[in-house]
Amino acid sequence: MTSRKAENLSRKVTPEIINQLEEILGKDNVNTSEMDRMLYSHDLAPLPKEAGIAFNNIPDVVVRPHTVDQVASIVKLAYQNGIAVVPRGASTWGLGGSMPTAAGILLDMSSGMNEVIKLDKENMYVKVQSGCIWKKMMEVCEKEGLLVGSYPSSFPSATVAGWISTSGIVPADTSTELQGTTSST
Ligand SMILES: Cc1cc2nc3c(=O)[nH]c(=O)nc-3n(C[C@H](O)[C@H](O)[C@H](O)COP(=O)(O)OP(=O)(O)OC[C@H]3O[C@@H](n4cnc5c(N)ncnc54)[C@H](O)[C@@H]3O)c2cc1C
Repeated sequence: MTSRKAENLSRKVTPEIINQLEEILGKDNVNTSEMDRMLYSHDLAPLPKEAGIAFNNIPDVVVRPHTVDQVASIVKLAYQNGIAVVPRGASTWGLGGSMPTAAGILLDMSSGMNEVIKLDKENMYVKVQSGCIWKKMMEVCEKEGLLVGSYPSSFPSATVAGWISTSGIVPADTSTELQGTTSST
């Protein structure tokens, strides 16, 4: 893994881009500290050191969106400037999916977009934000006497969108589903 100073951003993530991200998200949700960037450079099972030679796993900036509009604005800004964007849930996949390969913007989806939006008992579905962890969603359902019939065994920490993104498989009997259709934003 390469180690770089926080102020030594890549060519494309300029201080001006950081300013624009701060305008979108507020300063508190835009982080360029070296420590944070290092922490977000790997997932549950870090790749061997050699991976750092081929890839730039350290993001230039870690951002914590709270709304869908903010995510859209970040992606638009990144696209216009040719900057890589990597979304990250709880990083439990362990196969490097949430690790950057070309630095850029790391979208931490689990910090500000982790709520259950709606439990519709009549139509038997639950809608959550993409960074909502399974456990939180399941607890909300259980309070209403409902079960989510399928879930990863990493449910205490894995996010719903991370599971969808990896085409997650389930250890439970899916015939018992809400009992559960899920959707995430
Ligand atoms: C103990 C243990 C048990 C496990 N059991 C299972 C199991 O039973 N079934 C199973 O399928 N997996 C299992 N896994 C693997 C892992 O937990 C799942 O893949 C999990 O769903 C990943 O969720 P995450 O939030 O950690 O995603 P991350 O690891 O953060 O991300 C995984 C991928 O999804 C992308 N991603 C994350 N959030 C978003 C988003 N909001 N929008 C778009 N893309 C996004 C990331 O970029 C990355 O490519 C297990 C892992 C562990 C450690």
